[in-house]
Amino acid sequence: MTEASKPAAILPPGIAVDGSGELARRAHNEPPHPYRTPFARDTARILHARAFRRLAGKTQVFSRLASDPPGDHFRSRLTHTLEVAQISRTLAHALGLNAELAEALALAHDIGHPPFGHAGEKALGRALAAHGLSFDHNLHALRIVTWFEQRYAGFRGLNLTLAVREGIIKHSRDYSATEHPELAEYFLDRQPPLEAQLIDLADEIAYLTADLDDGLDSGILSLEQVREGVSLFRPFHDDVLRLYPAAPLKLTVNEALRRVLNALVTDLMNQVRLRLAAVGAATLDEIRRAPERLAVLSPAMEADRAAAKQFLYANFYNSPGMTEAHRHAHEVVEGLFAMLIADPGLLPEDHRADIPAEGLARTVADYIAGMTDSYIEQVWTRCGAR
Ligand code: MG
Repeated sequence: MTEASKPAAILPPGIAVDGSGELARRAHNEPPHPYRTPFARDTARILHARAFRRLAGKTQVFSRLASDPPGDHFRSRLTHTLEVAQISRTLAHALGLNAELAEALALAHDIGHPPFGHAGEKALGRALAAHGLSFDHNLHALRIVTWFEQRYAGFRGLNLTLAVREGIIKHSRDYSATEHPELAEYFLDRQPPLEAQLIDLADEIAYLTADLDDGLDSGILSLEQVREGVSLFRPFHDDVLRLYPAAPLKLTVNEALRRVLNALVTDLMNQVRLRLAAVGAATLDEIRRAPERLAVLSPAMEADRAAAKQFLYANFYNSPGMTEAHRHAHEVVEGLFAMLIADPGLLPEDHRADIPAEGLARTVADYIAGMTDSYIEQVWTRCGAR
């Protein structure tokens, strides 16, 4: 494979979200800031939120380090989030989109995730299913930024702009207005702006390359296995081996992965430009009315990406080395959930106050979803589990 060709041209200016338009509206009126744009303010609000700081203590892939000895440099949800923000900013700048909005969306994209990564999310979903409910990290993220964060005297939540709230719920999925009438203000029958569409791909690109890196570094994946199983990796790694025959293997992996990342980002930029031209969209409204999202990879690159993701599921996320971590996540999350349902007196007072409005099961799930990995272990132990 050759590295994707020329850089994409900048998009027509009417495509970018305008920081002075309808999408910059907040639920509670606030005077404009003298020298910061609305989306720069949102970026700061998310960055200063408690839920954002907690991402540092939340698992990205490793629940309990399966590597021996364990490393302290594997991705957390926070460092993954910062990598997504870096890629999103690059893409938005290069395409002439609103980079401040893209950054705010990237910083918020995983803010609704419970402890213990996807195993924790599954466990929480299972616990809620018994009460006829489900857990959805986008909807939870929206509740965090509109309700759970308390920093201002005049209102609850962060009072983020409409564009950021819309982007939060449209992260990697769409909601129907019939099933979610409470989301009516978020243009449910329309595509999100390109800034929001880019986040899904930036997320995929960030974790694909990072998880190959962490998987190799932890010893769960072998270089031979990755070369054999990941069509996206091998040609770049071959190029690097030819260029630097004497380089340490670790550095050849880094060089190959940065080429993979660059190829994915460049392909995405080129595709956005091509798809836009194909549908003849020159304004945000036309992006919104397009039959599909326009931020996509080329068919060949998409096939490579999907195959690499499948490889990671089979050999890393669901590998035997991760079984114990997943079992532990289920035991702690479902165990604590059951304990708090049985004895709501164990809930902190501010959470107990939500029971009449939210119901006990949702309140317990909200409490658990907000926890970091280490905090849930502490509460689990304190509640007498061990
Ligand atoms: Mg993510």
